[in-house]
Amino acid sequence: MDVALFNTFSRSLEKLEPLHDHEVRMYHCGPTVYDYAHIGNLRAYISCDILRRTLEYAGYSVKQVMNITDIDDKTIKRSHDEGLTLSELTKKYEAIFLADLRHLNINVPEHLPHATEHIAGMIAIIEKLLRDDFAYKTDDGVYFNIAKSKGYGALAELDLTAVTQSRIANDEYDKKNARDFALWKFWTEDDGENVFDASFGRGRPGWHIECSAMAISELGETIDIHTGGVDLLFPHHTNEIAQSEAFTGKPFAKMWLHNEFVMVDGQKMSKSLGNIITLRTIVEKDFSPLAYRYFVLGAHYRAKSNFTWEGLEGAETALARLESHIGEEIGKINESYKKRFEEIISNDLDTPRALALAWEVAKDAELSNADKAATLLNFDRVLGLSLSPKQKEIIPVEIEALVRTREEARKNKDWKKSDSLRTEINSLGYEILDTEEGQVVQRF
Ligand code: AMP
Ligand code: ZN
Repeated sequence: MDVALFNTFSRSLEKLEPLHDHEVRMYHCGPTVYDYAHIGNLRAYISCDILRRTLEYAGYSVKQVMNITDIDDKTIKRSHDEGLTLSELTKKYEAIFLADLRHLNINVPEHLPHATEHIAGMIAIIEKLLRDDFAYKTDDGVYFNIAKSKGYGALAELDLTAVTQSRIANDEYDKKNARDFALWKFWTEDDGENVFDASFGRGRPGWHIECSAMAISELGETIDIHTGGVDLLFPHHTNEIAQSEAFTGKPFAKMWLHNEFVMVDGQKMSKSLGNIITLRTIVEKDFSPLAYRYFVLGAHYRAKSNFTWEGLEGAETALARLESHIGEEIGKINESYKKRFEEIISNDLDTPRALALAWEVAKDAELSNADKAATLLNFDRVLGLSLSPKQKEIIPVEIEALVRTREEARKNKDWKKSDSLRTEINSLGYEILDTEEGQVVQRF
């Protein structure tokens, strides 16, 4: 199965052609672990998971890297606010983040590099950029000179005339261009003990260089796919490209994929707007995290998704109904539906149409229940909604023994004993229904 993806760089749908035969190497900009992720952020990672599952479904092996930003302005500030060391703070929020991923049935990427583990690599890149005159020092850090970069801003289709006009004639200690960005920030008091030695001065890395260093070190100089939300196009991805390509002289990534935002009342969900919702809130309101996954799949990853609680409720009901079509018996995958599913999902990960097709399968009166189940479970390898065949309830032997004793008591019209046995069975988490066919036991 070929996979076509919309490459932001070329603004067109392109067939994926991995650089290394059947292995796809991809990099996702991961979380800055200073607080709970909001469900907008989590949409980005659900999109990455759909991409990974689609590639695996298509038969590729996937080398997937998602970084953890564990040092930057926000993490340092928050660690001071919470009275924790930087590593205590970032470990705490990383654990919460990984739990969120698992609750959403996102396969956690095998490679989760931390920025703080890659400082030496960042320093080596900056040293070379300084040597080759792509970077310069000021009194507060080391900056990348965008005027030296070929094709700066192409990814985001930036209009650079504005940049040139804002060029400011300053002495050599100031930024040469308003859009030059920090590769390294020299130590200030606010950084506390979070400081690293480098030949060009003690300090800490800028955010953009972190991703370049981790991507190149884990995946090589040119990677197949790089992803992130649309807000990362500029400046983050733009700067990642500039510094990586200046360093290696090679294209940094073949394909760039960007997911659109989760919106609330017409505005982007974001911390600064104060309209965020976390997965914890969703669970506290008694929704399943998978209902949110279903909700997210209802919009194409390149379309905005408007979050409402009614929408989430609808998603939860739909998911439960879809799941009710998966019985105990698993038959054969229906080949014609499978083919249609492959066409849909390999066409830029079209999850809304894939869900619509799942419903067509569920409602198809010509298909046996067992074949429906097999076909839906096949789709679920990509959708990841955890559709599971209904298990026959296995009643523990002790409970069965109590039920048999109660049956005898009832035959002997020993109602007192029968009632006390029922109470005992209930206290163990099971209930007995007296039906016309006899007693039925089930878990509460
Ligand atoms: P951050 O931790 O802020 O770097 O964001 C993590 C990821 O979430 C990035 O890929 C962002 O582009 C993405 N993101 C941020 N806000 C939203 C949103 N409202 N909807 C979808 N993705 C978002
Ligand atoms: Zn990044």
